[in-house]
Amino acid sequence: MKKWGCLLFLILGIGFVSLSFFQKEVDIKTLKQLDKSTKMVDLRISAEIVFQGNLVLVNNEYPARKEYIRSDIVHIFQNDHLMNGFSLLNNSIQLSEDITQKFSKMVLAAENNGVKNFIISSGYRNFDEQETLYKEMGADYALPAGFSEHNLGLSLDVGSSVAKMEKAPEGKWIEKNAWKHGFILRYPKDKTQVTGIQYEPWHIRYVGLPHSAIIHEKNFALEEYLDYLKTEKNLLVDFNGKKYQISYYPITEQTTIQVPAKQEYDVSGNNIDGVIVTVYQ
Ligand SMILES: [Zn+2]
Repeated sequence: MKKWGCLLFLILGIGFVSLSFFQKEVDIKTLKQLDKSTKMVDLRISAEIVFQGNLVLVNNEYPARKEYIRSDIVHIFQNDHLMNGFSLLNNSIQLSEDITQKFSKMVLAAENNGVKNFIISSGYRNFDEQETLYKEMGADYALPAGFSEHNLGLSLDVGSSVAKMEKAPEGKWIEKNAWKHGFILRYPKDKTQVTGIQYEPWHIRYVGLPHSAIIHEKNFALEEYLDYLKTEKNLLVDFNGKKYQISYYPITEQTTIQVPAKQEYDVSGNNIDGVIVTVYQ
């Protein structure tokens, strides 16, 4: 009897620990207004910022702006320090240096789980390359110049050298874990109606934390997430022991917004009508 009691206690205990762990993994609260206790300063924002940053939406309605493509696009193969934890389908693949490093860090984490056969099959494509692809492949397989996420330098196609991504351990790992590293599966199986794009288990996009964690927690497509931010305006997010405050501001012309004086923050446009300020508390 005593044994059973102990076992029951143990099971309940494990249940409680795992429940509280999952409950606390990503905690999202909406705020009526910003926290007034921190010292704020004015930041002047020009309307062009709407088209720049890690959260810009690119789809058949909102194209990437050529003038705001990331400035750190590099040929991965030519940069030894970037070739870590993955291989390349060909030596001409380009991507943002910063995003490549973040991807590399992610796949090294996968390697700790025994998943290690990642291949980058496509990265950044300039507008001319996109146009050529569109003409060669047709509208069913490629998007016109500017309308592909590959034109941003924030997206990449990832394959596995052992199986198709849908079945491969690499694909399963990405689907389950990429969000913890700031990446999202941009075209999930259950969001084809929202994205207008077929399920692509290989196409990942960097949005950064805590955005990828909220997208995961709420099961959003990027389109839905940006709508959500616009509706809620202010969020307080707790993820992995860190707190973040996220605010949406509509921008039509040069505007002044309030940002904390002494905290780190990031500003990104949504490529539609406003900016998102993420404060790292
Ligand atoms: Zn892709």
